[in-house]
Amino acid sequence: MGKRDHWYVPGYKVVTEQIIGTLEYLISQDDEYGGTWCNLDHIHHNTLKSLLRRDWIQRSPRPDGTRDDYKITTRGRKAAKECRAHTTRDYRRDGICSRCGERPRSRKNGGYCKPCNQEVTQARRSAHPKYHTRHEGKTCTKCKKRPIRHHKLCNACNYQRGKAQKMRQAAEIEAGIRPAPICPMCNERPRGISNGILLGYCYECNRQKYKGINKQKYARRMQDKIDRLFGKR
Ligand SMILES: [Zn+2]
Ligand SMILES: [Zn+2]
Ligand SMILES: [Zn+2]
Repeated sequence: MGKRDHWYVPGYKVVTEQIIGTLEYLISQDDEYGGTWCNLDHIHHNTLKSLLRRDWIQRSPRPDGTRDDYKITTRGRKAAKECRAHTTRDYRRDGICSRCGERPRSRKNGGYCKPCNQEVTQARRSAHPKYHTRHEGKTCTKCKKRPIRHHKLCNACNYQRGKAQKMRQAAEIEAGIRPAPICPMCNERPRGISNGILLGYCYECNRQKYKGINKQKYARRMQDKIDRLFGKR
């Protein structure tokens, strides 16, 4: 997984590392030289546009008229501080929610406790309202029953589509119509075939990848069983 570069800070729209970094750069310049306009030619224009729209920076045309110079606003100072505090908070591994630091974290809710997860989800949804309502009221184009989850299909139909594609690919490879694609993990061996379905990796990498996951799944299932037997839930 890559380094995390965007966050859903409560009370804000989504903030990126570029946004916070630019604000911090402007703050440091402002503190050092006291209210001078800064050259931000090295920052991407989308980042600048986003910052201007939020009223976190202000703009002034350069005397020679080529581009603009920028300065931090009071609102930008506050935002930088709050967002940075959010991105650098400690992640903990002691089973307590990393957001509130009080309630135990829940297995299902992305590492947060239930109330915190609800707040984060709400912030995420209000940051991208269109994205989260794009499938509302639409049914799967294939089965015409279940709601859309992936592009135009429901979960079940999407799974079937992927499976059918991998079976077709495996059949073609076994018939010698085309060579097996190279494993993306080791970049050496060809991707394997199991039960007539093309695997995502070669046999060796596939085993490596799923060894840990299967172990976790097994442990979780056994724990659930024990809890049920002894009436913990
Ligand atoms: Zn919490
Ligand atoms: Zn469907
Ligand atoms: Zn491999």
